[in-house]
Amino acid sequence: MADLEDGSTETDAFPDVPLPGPELARVLDARLAEVPGWHAPDDPVRLGFAMTAPHALALDAFGRFAERNPNNVGVHTRFGDGVRGTRRLEREAVLALAGLLHADAADGYLTGGANEGTLAGLRVGRNALRAAGAGRVVVLASALTHHSVAKAAEILDLELRLCPAGPSWLLEAGAVDAALDALAAETGADARTGVVVVSTAGYYNTGLVDPVDAIAGVLAGRAAGGGNLSVFHHVDAAHGGMILPFTAPEVPFDFRSPYVHSIVLDPHKSGLMPYSCGVFLCRKGLLGHGAVPAPMSGFVDETISGSRSGAMAAALWSLVFGLAADGYREVFRDCLRVRDRLADAIRAADPDAVVLPSPGNTVVVAGFSHGDGRLPAELAERYRLVGNTLPWTAPDGSTGDRLFHHFYAMPHLTPAQVDGFAAALAGSLADAARTPRRDAPAAPAAPAAELRDLRRSSVCLRHLVVHPPGRRDPDDHPHAYSFHTFQDRAGLGEQLAARPWTGDDGSPTGLYVYAPDLEAPFANELFGVTDPGRYSLEVLDRNQQKLSLVGAAHFAVFGPEPRTPDRPVVLANFHADGTLRSVEYKYGDRRYNDEVQVFADHVVVKIGKDARSVRRDGDDYSFSLDTSLELRLRLTDDDAVPRITRVARHADPALPRRRHLLRGQYRRFPNRFFDTVVDMTAGRRHEARWPAAGPVPSGSEGPLLARSALLDLVRVTPSVSGGALSVRLTAVGGPGTAAFTVPLGLGARLPGLLPGIAVGEPETLDPAEVVAWAARLHPRLGPLREAALARGGQRRLSVPDEVAGRTERT
Ligand SMILES: *Cc1c(COP(=O)(O)O)cnc(C)c1O
Repeated sequence: MADLEDGSTETDAFPDVPLPGPELARVLDARLAEVPGWHAPDDPVRLGFAMTAPHALALDAFGRFAERNPNNVGVHTRFGDGVRGTRRLEREAVLALAGLLHADAADGYLTGGANEGTLAGLRVGRNALRAAGAGRVVVLASALTHHSVAKAAEILDLELRLCPAGPSWLLEAGAVDAALDALAAETGADARTGVVVVSTAGYYNTGLVDPVDAIAGVLAGRAAGGGNLSVFHHVDAAHGGMILPFTAPEVPFDFRSPYVHSIVLDPHKSGLMPYSCGVFLCRKGLLGHGAVPAPMSGFVDETISGSRSGAMAAALWSLVFGLAADGYREVFRDCLRVRDRLADAIRAADPDAVVLPSPGNTVVVAGFSHGDGRLPAELAERYRLVGNTLPWTAPDGSTGDRLFHHFYAMPHLTPAQVDGFAAALAGSLADAARTPRRDAPAAPAAPAAELRDLRRSSVCLRHLVVHPPGRRDPDDHPHAYSFHTFQDRAGLGEQLAARPWTGDDGSPTGLYVYAPDLEAPFANELFGVTDPGRYSLEVLDRNQQKLSLVGAAHFAVFGPEPRTPDRPVVLANFHADGTLRSVEYKYGDRRYNDEVQVFADHVVVKIGKDARSVRRDGDDYSFSLDTSLELRLRLTDDDAVPRITRVARHADPALPRRRHLLRGQYRRFPNRFFDTVVDMTAGRRHEARWPAAGPVPSGSEGPLLARSALLDLVRVTPSVSGGALSVRLTAVGGPGTAAFTVPLGLGARLPGLLPGIAVGEPETLDPAEVVAWAARLHPRLGPLREAALARGGQRRLSVPDEVAGRTERT
């Protein structure tokens, strides 16, 4: 599979030969089994998402038409268009939906969903406003608007202005008016600003409907009153648009207000259609603002999508005409009953909860009274519930953010499922009420100045983020153990405790020990000992040892002379059994460096290892696993000629790459990114020059480029001579050069030099053992750092004779 063990992802080979039929069926069956159904006992009950089971009429029509693969490219609601086949079915379905939304005349087409429909609406709006003379076009919406609005604004390069969600959670007409006043004031007398106002009929996490008619009234007044603004009004009716006309036809969210220009519906969300089916509708005369001629195909394209499924049009038609208003009314009447049943169940389980069924819509919003409104994880998982923080005004008038959950009463829900949920909710809320709240850790007394840094940080940036205490064993939740769920240690209220380490006679040693909990030093994340200006040794607890990619204990030398770009931090990493894993030389700063890792049987050179995004409150996360170029040299016990066995080009180092994922994008630990990976082999005893002449055979076109921490964009040239690997960096944009030189035999000598102690059962360790181990390692590792000082850009790694001699004697 494409996820590799080292935490990166590569492509799969395209299969050469077909899978045999039974094998194909077996795999498909297995994947199908992973897709939940609707009513089997083990299926989750989808209560927190608006999706629902598609209607059989739609599935049947889709299947019948799919075989002919009709293409409904273009728009079919014009005079003389849409007269045959699936284009006729699309025209009839779209115009009937426009009629349902009280348009006298409209154009429209089926989209892939509401994202695309909103993009279409904002595009038509922008172009129409520009045609009206607007130089600048702004999108105005509520802060609670679906993210598809921000996405469309980003695609269209429009400024987005969000009105804060007030106590009503709605975009109020007064707020729109005030925002328009502000925009008018910003616009010069001889300029014109276009404003695309987006209102929502059925907010995703509340189900509530904006006062679309009042907003439209404000816009109509602006249009009639002159001034320097032009306005366009798009309604996101993705959730409510297929429900309100059948449950609450009096709610004026649609074309009955003249100042509504376009609307998006989402039949695959609330119209009983399968994915992907949205509908974009707009008033006559507007769609042409997005017209692009398609001379090769002989038509004019006014859509975002291009080729579209005619079978989907047939499916939608079969619901519009096969269910019709009577059918939809019946479906949603039942849903509202289920919604009220859900609301009753919530009130019964938590009489102090805030429970808000949304008028006319199938949504209930609930703020629970226990545990900051949170629901137990098992309940949230089984019922697919998600919470959202919303502004809340309490009955006493105080305001603040509060966690709310939303519940969708969609057609697939059975009374038995609602009753099951009611019982599960009552049970778990009763448990929550019984369990006393865990007190926040008491704030420790202010530490002495020299301990302050220790309390904030460990040598390894990884330990700045942790899971909450009690949830640190990755085996307990293998599917959820990801960076996604890591939290900032300080944010958890947890700091590393630190205290001076005293000698046997009670005298100060200058050393300090630290751990999250010094009462149980080896039971929680890590235990460290440090000479603050020189070195530290950290032993990981059992859970961290399971997670660690670099061994169970780390010794780091970073002083006495402070780190500079030319003076590395040197790290020795040990396995749980006490054997040496690797020695790492990191040049650069703590968060961005070029480094060399020396193992017994291989050498890894990392150019541009980037952890600059590990920040206390940043949303941009890397955990130092982002490397521009990684060269991996595998050593064999012979004199084999060096060879580049593979160059994998994952990204272009010359282009700005999004170097770190956002917090919400992490799924699993570890997570690595490379621009380029170079695999090499060489015999440990190879002495001759390689390459003998000419450019390095990099295995593909062009030189190897990387973003170096030291020199920015560089050409990377590996070579071998005199029994050492040399990796030369030559700056592309300037005069700088640097080279890393690693004797091929270095890694084999290091384990003898750096003996460890077994730490695989950390709870059995005594802090004194670890302190003594550190004291033994320092005189051996410290000189490696001194020997690795850069001289004229040359970084030559070696073991100084006096240290080598000392080990040979011991
Ligand atoms: C679901 C939803 C969308 C996005 O719809 P897609 O079909 O996923 O593109 C947009 N707006 C609202 C209010 C929604 O509920």
